[in-house]
Amino acid sequence: MSDLHVIALSGGKDSTAMAVRLSEENPNTEYVHVCTPTGNELPQMYEHWSNLRETLGGTFLPIMGGTLEGLINKQNALPNWRQRWCTRMLKIEPYAAWLMQQSDKYDRIFSYVGLRADEEERVGGDYTKIQGIEMKYPMREWGWGLNDVLNYLEQKNIIIPERTDCAWCFYQTLGEWWVLWKEHPDLYQDAVDLESRVGHTFRSPGRDTWPACLQELRAEFEKGRIPSRTKRQKDLFGQMQCRVCTK
Ligand code: SF4
Repeated sequence: MSDLHVIALSGGKDSTAMAVRLSEENPNTEYVHVCTPTGNELPQMYEHWSNLRETLGGTFLPIMGGTLEGLINKQNALPNWRQRWCTRMLKIEPYAAWLMQQSDKYDRIFSYVGLRADEEERVGGDYTKIQGIEMKYPMREWGWGLNDVLNYLEQKNIIIPERTDCAWCFYQTLGEWWVLWKEHPDLYQDAVDLESRVGHTFRSPGRDTWPACLQELRAEFEKGRIPSRTKRQKDLFGQMQCRVCTK
């Protein structure tokens, strides 16, 4: 029996910076880097995880509770603002189940979470009910805010993908749907097919003046209409990740 050191590595800027800095600070600690892919991330994200695996060394463990597409097909439903079962079923529950299994093998489990010092109001997943677990927030101990994270990543020459969330995430902006259509037409088409099979839309109707349905939205894009804030949205979120579950 011994200690287990687990880093929840979404691959976003905060968890990436935390993981790299921890491995630098404690080269003799065996960290287990855990991520929870949904199988629907963009190719740049898988490349990023693969680069991190090389940079960080140690154990890199993807935990998957199925795929987003598989769950949509199984439930015959799309996740949305009100029913965000995707995060629960693909990230929170599989991670908690894995932690539970480890709690039988180790005396103590240290779970490192990338919450920054300048976002005191934010809380991460609470796994403290699992026996032997101790939550650690190194960036808060270091006093690291957003600028520290961005400066550190720049210093280390680490580039975070523009999007670290799911390609079909219902939280994405209209501009991000436009970029998905433009740069990944195959993934966009798959989302169109799912909408027509399930009979609902990823985008909420009435959210803006554009069609909610992706097929009709694409028809607008094909006419040459570009959401007015597409460039700005890309710039704004360029260094960010899923605002919901991979932050
Ligand atoms: S990124 Fe979006 S679609 Fe993917 S699991 Fe999170 S909330 Fe769900």
